[in-house]
Amino acid sequence: MKVKTLTPLWTGGVGGKVDRIHETGLLGSMRWWYEVLVRGLGGRVCERSDECKFDVDKYFKSEASDEGKRLRDAGLCDVCQVFGATGWKRRFRLSVKESEIYDAIIQHPIEAERVYETQGKKHTPAWYFPSFPNTKPNTPKSGSFEIQIQSLYGDFPSDVIMGLIQFIADWGALGARAQMGFGVIEPIDDRWDTGPLYKWLATTADNQEYYEWPSLRNVFFTQIKMQNVREVDTFNLKYDLRQLFSANQDVRHFIMGTTAGDNKMAAKVKISRPYGDGQIRIWGWIPEKAGCYDNEWNREKIVEVIHNHLIHEYDLETWREFNSPRDTATVNITDPREFLQSLLGIEGG
Ligand SMILES: [Zn+2]
Repeated sequence: MKVKTLTPLWTGGVGGKVDRIHETGLLGSMRWWYEVLVRGLGGRVCERSDECKFDVDKYFKSEASDEGKRLRDAGLCDVCQVFGATGWKRRFRLSVKESEIYDAIIQHPIEAERVYETQGKKHTPAWYFPSFPNTKPNTPKSGSFEIQIQSLYGDFPSDVIMGLIQFIADWGALGARAQMGFGVIEPIDDRWDTGPLYKWLATTADNQEYYEWPSLRNVFFTQIKMQNVREVDTFNLKYDLRQLFSANQDVRHFIMGTTAGDNKMAAKVKISRPYGDGQIRIWGWIPEKAGCYDNEWNREKIVEVIHNHLIHEYDLETWREFNSPRDTATVNITDPREFLQSLLGIEGG
């Protein structure tokens, strides 16, 4: 698969290692998105604290009629079945061939064009890319590269993974530090077929519910367009979205993240750097349940506040959200499979 970066790609790697695209950084984000899709369909997804282990005896004792169910009986959730777990190899091998990759030039640190005051002092909000430049030469990369996917199991079509990468290209970001706007990619030649991904995922559909985890049922995907867009616009927007929750610090930290003290929390809303024709991509997962929700703040209110800000301040090109009147393609899709098909660009059935 030939891939082009639209915003710089960062795949991790700490000081001293070879300067290249790290496969593990790609796999981490691919697994994250795959979990989102499986949870959306109600399939089985283990928690990181309680990872799956393959039990070969249970596999042979299983009376399930299909392989996926047999593997569940043997202790593997639907994600580990594909991405591997203790005693069970990942179903595919991924390798990267770099063709035209160069170090991206990013502003560091980057400051928003905003000022806030605390105790009479003026501050400018700034973002750091902590491992940069200390870990040079492992800088974010731009350019084009090739991903090679090879199936390692006879029953596993490698184009499931190609479909997953197409999904990420359409809606999310590949690699690490999406919260810094990295990882928007596109295929260099034709789109990759998402049909095999859908077919594979459909077999995992079940009745599990995930009210506190990222899931296709609580994610929103949106794209705005700006004229004369600059890199700093991403960070201006990041600051402005934080401000929407200024009345409640817990909610603000929960949604937009914090690096303060012991309560480090990743942002649940990510904003890409600009790409294409002035586009910025924003997506986030706002769970149905959270400890910080109260009479005033809940999922619906948070999403509504973000949506409101974007439609008033920007040219909003798309907004996709499960079972929502805000969705710009089809409102209120209540069947997760139908919603997934719609995101994958697959005609019904
Ligand atoms: Zn698992």
